[in-house]
Parts: sequence; C-alpha cells; structure tokens
Amino acid sequence: MTTQAYGATAAHQPLEPIAIERRAPGVDDVQIEIAYCGVCHSDLHTVRSEWGGTLFPCVPGHEIVGHVSAVGSGVSDVRVGDTVGVGCMVDSCQHCAACTEGLEQYCENGFVGTYNGPTPDAPGHTLGGYSQRIVVDRKFVLKIHHPEAQLAAVAPLLCAGITTYSPLRHWGAGPGKKVGVVGIGGLGHMGVKIAHALGARVVAFTTSPGKRQDALDLGADEVVISRDAEEMKAHTASFDLILNTVAASHSLDAYTALLKRDGTLVLVGVPANPHPSPSISNLIFKRRAIAGSLIGGIAETQEMLDFCADHGIVSDIEMIPIEKIDEAYDRMLKGDVKYRFVIDSATLATV
Ligand code: NAP
Ligand code: ZN
Repeated sequence: MTTQAYGATAAHQPLEPIAIERRAPGVDDVQIEIAYCGVCHSDLHTVRSEWGGTLFPCVPGHEIVGHVSAVGSGVSDVRVGDTVGVGCMVDSCQHCAACTEGLEQYCENGFVGTYNGPTPDAPGHTLGGYSQRIVVDRKFVLKIHHPEAQLAAVAPLLCAGITTYSPLRHWGAGPGKKVGVVGIGGLGHMGVKIAHALGARVVAFTTSPGKRQDALDLGADEVVISRDAEEMKAHTASFDLILNTVAASHSLDAYTALLKRDGTLVLVGVPANPHPSPSISNLIFKRRAIAGSLIGGIAETQEMLDFCADHGIVSDIEMIPIEKIDEAYDRMLKGDVKYRFVIDSATLATV
C-alpha cells in the first residue's frame, strides 16, 4: 500500500516527502497506522550517514506508536484498534542462542533494524517510522497500557526507554546502589526517571548548567556539571554504575575515576568518532569495567513499557510537525530539546 513518508534521498540532504510502499499484511503481520514517532539521535546519525553504511532513500524513526488497522490470519494476540508500539527491531532469526533467550538485539545472524535493515520488501532495506503506516511481524509488536492521552509521550520509551532500562536492570540498579547518568538528552532523561523509579540513588551528569533543576525534577538526587573538576572530584570512587548516553567523542577517564571497586561504566551513546583510549590504570587498580549495551529484547521492552505504565513514567516531549524535522535535528545537536522531539504523524497527510 502506498504510504506517505519523510526521508532523505542522500546523505547531507534535507529530509523530504517520499511515497513508499508497505507490503500487504502476511499471515503473521500487523499493520499499524502510526500516530506518533519519537526522534532519536540515531536517526540523525543514520540519515546523515555519520556511521557509514546508510542506504538511501532513508526513512528513519524507531520510536513508533499507533493503532492496529489490519492483522494476518495467524495473529491472535493483537486486534484491529489496539494501541501498540514498534521499537528499533522488526525481525531477527528467532533460532540462535540470543534469540532463544529473548535477546533479539544480539541475534547472532543480525537483527533487522526498523530502518536501514535488510528486507525482501522494496527498496531492499527497511523504512522506519517517519511514515503514516508500517507492517511488522507480530513478534516485534509491543502492547501499550498507558492512558491514550499519553500516547505521544510513550513513543520515546520504544528506544530511549528500553536502551536505558536494559542496562540499569542488567547491572542491578536499585535500592542501595549509586547510579550516574551522563548526558541529559533523550536517553539520559529516561535513564534518570527509570533509575529513580528502580530505587537507586541517582546522580545526573550534564554539560548544561541550565538543566540542573530539570534533572532534579526528573528524579536525580544530585546533579553534577561535568565540566566542573571540583564537582566531579567530590564523587571519586563512589558509583556502582554509570550510564553514559553522550552522542559525542570525549575522554572517559573522568567517569571511570568515579567508579567504586568493581563498578561499571556502561556506554550506550554511539558517537560518530571513537572516544580516546581510556586510562588502563583507572581500570586495573579498582577492577573497574567499561561495557556497552544495545537497546533491549522484545520481552524486556514489554516489561519496560509495563513498568513505566505502572510507575506513571513517560518521556518529556516537544511535539513537532514532520516539516520541522531538520530544524529538530539541528536543535538536538545543540542540546536544545526538553527532552525528546516527537513527530505528530497526522502532519504527514498534508505534506
Ligand atoms: P541526545 O538527545 O542528543 O542526548 C545526548 C546528550 O549528550 C545531550 O543532550 C547532552 O547532554 C550530551 N552531549 C551532547 N554532546 C556532548 C558533548 N560534546 N560533550 C558532552 N556531552 C554532550 O541523544 P540521544 O537520542 O539521547 O542519543 C544519545 C546517543 O545514544 C546517540 O549516540 C545515539 O545514537 C545512541 N543510542 C544508542 C542506543 C543503544 O542501543 N546503545 C540506542 C539509542 C541511541 P547534556 O546537555 O546534559 O550534557
Ligand atoms: Zn533510538
């Protein structure tokens, strides 16, 4: 079915209206009319080909919420009219060790990203949520139990929410643990909310003094301006876990120094250029670790959505019409968003 979308035909080009084709729903497919789509920094990295390997035309968007408009004959767990979400993945092999454990994001045969992933559908790579509708295998469709009025603010949970929830859970954020969140952007502000709800003591690290009060309001117990060496030093060797969401290359040493013995710095930000090689003595003298984490599996994404619904957690958003997407990217690069742009997908009807 012809579907209005918005995307780029080449790197460094502004996004523009593009008509795309969505497949007719197969036996196991769910067709979704998209209501809102969050704007992740990964969309910007991809559409501007900062990581390389972007296939054009590129239609980004992997924080998708909407309503089911058709289902295949093999789909019984969602019905037409249901409110659902789609995150960063639309398929995986389903039989490797990772998929069997519900860790589709680490699929040994490669998961299929919601955009820029391999697919038999035209044009040969997946096209994401900056579009009016999407057709997705039922196994990758999430159920949303938040009130309908919060739907736009739920969209960012599908990437920013799960990307912070998964490492916080994996490394045991909870009561008695001191957890840092570095970079108060789309991911970071969700990390603060979720770590707080999990019961951890939360310290937000920001380069933006203007975000200090906001970070406290989001649930941080304390805020550190990361460019202030004295403020940083006060937290030396005190953290169990630090989650680093920063989308730009920077020295990690100032953060590893803040970890306790056996503490972990988890990188989730994926800057276009690598971080400088970290200090080894910072690591070995306290058996500290630097780790990475990628989104989260489908079962864990559902767990996160249900946890957020139970705790009244949504994203802090600024809604935009699709025509403002390039302006939104430029503002996101300046840290000028509180704290996630969300596209009102209804505006695609008039482009
Ligand atoms: P974002 O909204 O732009 O937030 C990034 C934040 O990092 C900014 O708000 C800013 O916070 C801080 N920052 C930016 N530039 C900085 C610099 N030069 N020095 C220090 N701090 C800086 O981006 P996002 O959507 O949260 O995404 C963050 C990163 O995570 C991106 O690289 C994205 O691709 C990646 N990501 C990874 C996964 C995964 O599975 N691992 C999933 C989604 C996204 P302050 O103003 O508070 O300093
Ligand atoms: Zn994302």
